[in-house]
Amino acid sequence: MLFENSLAFARRLDQADPLRSYRDRFHIPERNGEPLIYLCGNSLGLQPKTVRQALDRELGIWQQHGVEGWFEGENPWLTVHQRCKQPLAQIVGALPSEVCPMNNLTVNLHLLLTSFYRPQAGRTRILTIGGDFPSDQYALETHLQTRGLNPADALIEVFPRTDEHTWRTEDMLAAIEEHRDSLALVLMSGLHYYTGQVFDMAAIARKARAHGILVGFDLAHAVGNVPLQLHDWGVDFAFWCSYKYLNSGPGGVSGIFVHEKHHRAALPRLAGWWGYDETRRFDMTKGFSPMAGADGWQLSTPTVLAMAVHHTALQITDEAGMEALRQKSERLTGFLEFVLKQSGHPLKIMTPVNPAERGCQLSLLIENDGKAVFNRLTEQGIIGDWREPNCIRLAPAPLYNTFEEVWRVGQVFREA
Ligand SMILES: *Cc1c(COP(=O)(O)O)cnc(C)c1O
Repeated sequence: MLFENSLAFARRLDQADPLRSYRDRFHIPERNGEPLIYLCGNSLGLQPKTVRQALDRELGIWQQHGVEGWFEGENPWLTVHQRCKQPLAQIVGALPSEVCPMNNLTVNLHLLLTSFYRPQAGRTRILTIGGDFPSDQYALETHLQTRGLNPADALIEVFPRTDEHTWRTEDMLAAIEEHRDSLALVLMSGLHYYTGQVFDMAAIARKARAHGILVGFDLAHAVGNVPLQLHDWGVDFAFWCSYKYLNSGPGGVSGIFVHEKHHRAALPRLAGWWGYDETRRFDMTKGFSPMAGADGWQLSTPTVLAMAVHHTALQITDEAGMEALRQKSERLTGFLEFVLKQSGHPLKIMTPVNPAERGCQLSLLIENDGKAVFNRLTEQGIIGDWREPNCIRLAPAPLYNTFEEVWRVGQVFREA
């Protein structure tokens, strides 16, 4: 689409936006009575207005029924995770049995590594991207150490080429090809937190599969942001957090995906009673017998309050639909790119220009006065995210951001 750099044009886009009513379903943070321009949904998504009611409901049940809340009413706590499965499955492109909300992201990463990282004679290595999110790096490094392996040898990190900020798919595929005989697993972010690059997960999964290598993706920045077809892509496992684009609250419950093809296998795992066959869980007998599917990786009693927030937030994303969200998102991020370029401010956009290789977020490299620009944005009520030494990340979220807000960002850059 051809953009124009004017307020009137931005407002016309908002008028024509089929998702424009969704903004009203969120609390927009304010300063001095004025709404802030919140472009930080990649870090913490905004609060849906239904959250209080959803929490109140569970608090009321606890107040009135105590322990009977596990079994009382139309939505007993015992099956609280079940309610999230259908929308989650839609959002990540999976069968309901392949997904389960549980724990927090890094915990789930370790649990899934226990099951899916199976080093065998000759095939002991894990391929990942260099400079992935720190928690993922620490998890891989320490997980390898618990298996008696040296990360310096067992971890293969693929980096962008010199003078490039993002990875080329051909380089990712070539690295898998090169190391095919020593790889047990490919594990990496599906959408890189720093650059905003979306990897070609389908191609990476296909390449890994062709060589009998398992593949898992961290979808922290991808879920609720870009279309995913985990089942059809043949991804073995995946995990995400819900507090970014899924708006499920600070530290909100994470989720996992385990492909159906693994549901019958007797995979090694770290077990807890909540993953035990639910028809016999309360028999409290010896010997672990897992639930079928992703549910079998649950460990503990679900965090009912966090799950209630997750459920009400998921309904919004599910109702809007990933297809419509993606359509608006491509346009909104494209408009941000356009107004930034038009502003004349010397900046470099690290994020790929190809919409298929990015989600909501643009990562800007501002060499000299980056921090000053960031402070100016903040003073003007624009909430982005600063990464040392010179990066500003701005993420217009299609559920609650507008074209007018994006246009205003361009104005501040023009003045800076
Ligand atoms: C946000 C994020 C995390 C955070 O992990 P938690 O366990 O939820 O604190 C991990 N990995 C990636 C890639 C992220 O973007």
